[in-house]
Amino acid sequence: MKTSVRRLLIAGNWKMNKTSSEAAELVEEISLAVGKQLDVGVAVCPPFTSMESVAHTIEDSNIQLGAQNMHPAPAGAYTGEISAEMLRHLFASFVILGHSERRTCFSESNAFINRKVRAALESSLKPILCVGESLAERERGDTVGVVGAQVRACLDEISGEGSESIVVSYEPIWAIGTGKTATPAMAQEVHGEIRRMLTETLGASIADRIRILYGGSMKPDNAGELLDQPDIDGGLIGGASLEARSFIRIVELALERAQ
Ligand code: PEP
Repeated sequence: MKTSVRRLLIAGNWKMNKTSSEAAELVEEISLAVGKQLDVGVAVCPPFTSMESVAHTIEDSNIQLGAQNMHPAPAGAYTGEISAEMLRHLFASFVILGHSERRTCFSESNAFINRKVRAALESSLKPILCVGESLAERERGDTVGVVGAQVRACLDEISGEGSESIVVSYEPIWAIGTGKTATPAMAQEVHGEIRRMLTETLGASIADRIRILYGGSMKPDNAGELLDQPDIDGGLIGGASLEARSFIRIVELALERAQ
């Protein structure tokens, strides 16, 4: 049992997978199993093209909807992009920002991600801000420096009311989709550092309420011991969220630890 002010959150990042009908089927199964309870927050982040069918399917459940990205501008000549307001109109509650795949494949900088975090908060979307080090950075002993710089830069000029709705997801890049997971002790060490940085930048009362998720090959086999760590407040799940049974099992493991 975790004694924390923070409700655990299990969020699925479906990446570029599932057509809109496949997405509706997957979320339906998740919703039937864990969509009525409120002890653990459950969110799914499908591709933009499936958000409407998923929103419709979860209308009567407590599952929340998230997007995987957005542009910081409110509107304009940004071909192929989507604004925070558009996501709100699709009933999104969360938006994943700064995922390492976006940083790597689309060269997103901390400064650009910071603009997105601020725009999301202005539209009352909860950002799930992803941070994490590469294998080379970890091997150089730079993990805390790299993650700290990302947290500070991405949260620059953010303070006060509403910022407790930010979710940070620590995702060591070397653990994403590789089957390699940070050990619970390794993850807790970084989560503890992130909490300290949040305390420095946003103050203790907000930092205590911000959820810090772990992401990187989390699955039913390792989720329990990761969720047992005091500063691990849930998971951002990639591969294992595409299969209803494994995602549901991770939510059940979180429920066993919820207050
Ligand atoms: C992710 O990409 O956010 C992620 C955690 O992926 P996986 O669970 O597949 O490592």
